[in-house]
Amino acid sequence: MTAPNALEVTNLVVNYGIVPAVQNISFSVRKGAITTIVGSNGSGKTTTMKALTGLLAAQSGKVSMYGQDITDLPTDALVKRGLVLVPEGRRLFKAMTVAENLEMGAFQRRDASAIAHDLEKVLTYFPALRAKMRTRASNLSGGQQQMVAVARALMAAPKVLLLDEPTIGLAPAVVDTIAEIIQTIGRNGVDVLLVEQNAEIALEISEDAYIFERGELVMRGTARDLMNSPEVQRAYLGI
Ligand code: ATP
Repeated sequence: MTAPNALEVTNLVVNYGIVPAVQNISFSVRKGAITTIVGSNGSGKTTTMKALTGLLAAQSGKVSMYGQDITDLPTDALVKRGLVLVPEGRRLFKAMTVAENLEMGAFQRRDASAIAHDLEKVLTYFPALRAKMRTRASNLSGGQQQMVAVARALMAAPKVLLLDEPTIGLAPAVVDTIAEIIQTIGRNGVDVLLVEQNAEIALEISEDAYIFERGELVMRGTARDLMNSPEVQRAYLGI
């Protein structure tokens, strides 16, 4: 028997009132792989992430995680199971220090020694944050804030990490750093679903890819195949 997927999303439908945002979309996130959803503004990526993490109610559809039905579970229960979101726009606690933000990431955990161990591990991913632990999040650069957002999510000890546009608005060098860190997180045993407008970086670091347009799934395949598709190159890679 093959191992169940990290996530299996079946026929997801999400509307805002009468406005359809996600229309009957199915996709999976394989264990041990980075999966990406690429799409332009308004294609339904954020709506999908919010529905998966219990921040928005779906009209219909089924979600399972490692073979267990998690449809309709509330956000805190999902975090406890290891499904953790790095939200679009980072949503840091701006008036708090970096250390306090990271502490907030672990707020549902009671395993003090494991939390301390994870903090050390997270700081090896983001050595630049070590010197900033007492700095307020509002005083960090955009790239550093994104690092804190990812680090905070890691402090929740995710099994599946969802990242919503982690590279948006960042300078190219910082985009590369974030991309490398996402790959390292994936190699270290966390299953990753990455949502991106930046198709180039997303396809480069992912194994599997899906393309959303206006709330619909229009293409799926290996990231490599999509990168080589003339249609994708024209529409998303500017080639
Ligand atoms: P972005 O890159 O801008 O975040 P996206 O791919 O994440 O885009 P969504 O934010 O999921 O797209 O939006 C999908 C559709 O739902 C769009 O048509 C959008 O206008 C609409 N939409 C999003 N949020 C709301 C809301 N709160 N109320 C009504 N319509 C919304």
